[in-house]
Amino acid sequence: MRRESPPVKCERLMTTRLQALPDSPPAPDTVLLRPRALMPEVACRVRWRRSARARRLSLRICPLEGAVVVTLPMRASVKAGMALLHENAHWVTQHLRGIKPAEALAPGATVLIGDVPHTIIHAPERRGVALEDGRLVVSGAVEFLPRRVLDFLRREAGQRLLAASIPHAEALCVRPRAIRVKDTRSRWGSCAPDGTLAFSWRLVMAPGWVLDYVVAHEVAHLRELNHSPRFWALVEQLTPHHDAANAWLKREGPRLLRVGEG
Ligand SMILES: [Zn+2]
Repeated sequence: MRRESPPVKCERLMTTRLQALPDSPPAPDTVLLRPRALMPEVACRVRWRRSARARRLSLRICPLEGAVVVTLPMRASVKAGMALLHENAHWVTQHLRGIKPAEALAPGATVLIGDVPHTIIHAPERRGVALEDGRLVVSGAVEFLPRRVLDFLRREAGQRLLAASIPHAEALCVRPRAIRVKDTRSRWGSCAPDGTLAFSWRLVMAPGWVLDYVVAHEVAHLRELNHSPRFWALVEQLTPHHDAANAWLKREGPRLLRVGEG
């Protein structure tokens, strides 16, 4: 059984398989919407979500996916969802157009490390990848540059996560069995019952106090594998940044999740 951490959990991105109701056409991934009469149609990405808890049809924009999410209560038809999309075509197209594409990891682009922008410099004659004074200097052929930057960020994340875990583990007299760095999209950190902690490497881009909070949260699970008041008391003991870090991740997390996709 894997314990999840609701406060550090990002929105799940799994798509629910939609069962077509008798009157429904299949749910398309892309829908042509006309923002205003006489204006040309715009192709919009749509994610359909069937929800047992939803009381009514709703639309929202997911900046991470660059898509409009249509939530359908169990008995609502895809046809009704399509009608809602067309009624709100102007709103949907305006908001989708406002989403900035992820910046590619390329020479001259910036990448955040500990919330500090670093300019990517391509230096083919150099060796390895080095952090130098607000710059990330990357050697090798330019076509491998994005991969080398991502590999570097992942290694850097591993070092920072390990370093952050040591004082918290000592404070609680616990020892993680292992610390793993992953590219999870549904959560920033997790603690398995065997004591293995896992974190998203993307935390390396966040401010140090945010990374530290996620680490403190998961280390506290080594003593309390639950979200009881006793657990939260341990978290409070380790970090004062609980609320601010959650708010930061909620606000900025989608941007971190898009890095490297451009
Ligand atoms: Zn938790």
